[in-house]
Amino acid sequence: MLRVAIQSKGRLNEESTALFQEIGISVDDSKRKFLSQSANFPLEVLYMRDDDIPQVVASGTASLGIVGLNEVEEKGVDVEIVERLGFGGCRISLAIPKAEEYDGPQYFNGKRIATSYPNILRKYLAENGIDAKIEIITGSVEIAPAAGIADAIFDIVSSGGTLVSNGLKEVEKVFWSEAVLIAGPGLTDEDRKLLEEIQFRLDSVKVSRGKKYLLMNLPQASVEEAVKILPAMRSPTVMPLAAEGWCSMHSVVDEADLWDKIRQLKAIGAEGILVLNVDKIIP
Ligand code: ATP
Ligand code: MG
Repeated sequence: MLRVAIQSKGRLNEESTALFQEIGISVDDSKRKFLSQSANFPLEVLYMRDDDIPQVVASGTASLGIVGLNEVEEKGVDVEIVERLGFGGCRISLAIPKAEEYDGPQYFNGKRIATSYPNILRKYLAENGIDAKIEIITGSVEIAPAAGIADAIFDIVSSGGTLVSNGLKEVEKVFWSEAVLIAGPGLTDEDRKLLEEIQFRLDSVKVSRGKKYLLMNLPQASVEEAVKILPAMRSPTVMPLAAEGWCSMHSVVDEADLWDKIRQLKAIGAEGILVLNVDKIIP
């Protein structure tokens, strides 16, 4: 039985649970239990505060965990980063009151900086030869300058809206984070096999992200042109239609290129274009 620690509530909870759903592992989340077993995979989910996840995995109490890379780095524990999961993206930055003039990291010499990430900050300060005082605060770090607790903050930023509404400006981006799958040191052979299966499924979900399935009717004479427009995994699928001189062409495209491809395909006579979602891609 593989035990996976995930955040019980908060920003990463929903997407962590959704990820299990996407890879076909059903996890009962409705009762908000502390521990919940999957009905169709030898896995149980342990719900915790995100601060505790790195340690619980490092100690082997859970085999795996889903947590922000920022928490892993801050706790400095010995865990393996198995996969970056592509959600929960944010950065940890230094911010100062917006009226202050800023001329580089030396600005922070002699200043008091409030943060919930003292270890990551300490490392940054040491690397840049800055002598500042760290004030550890566990919540609402952004109010520290206005409250007179600190001159600056070192905190998580995603859109920057919280900084602006607290009269602060971001001056140094120090650490980039996203949700990661972590594994502890004591995995059994059985655990490793289950982890490989999870990774295989995760990869197929990742590959399919941002991909669309395109099918259309195309004049037979345009097939060669269309193949140049649609480089599929191997090559697009072409099937004859009952109507003479027409075929059906299927392919997978990046969503980012979708409208460009559609315009090009219409220009060579494509009709009845259907765009479908892609759930999984197994290369
Ligand atoms: P817990 O109660 O589990 O300790 P928390 O309040 O410490 O929760 P959340 O605010 O739920 O944590 O954030 C969890 C993680 O989400 C962060 O550690 C970070 O990796 C990520 N994250 C992404 N964007 C943001 C953001 N704008 N603010 C805070 N965290 C973010
Ligand atoms: Mg926390």
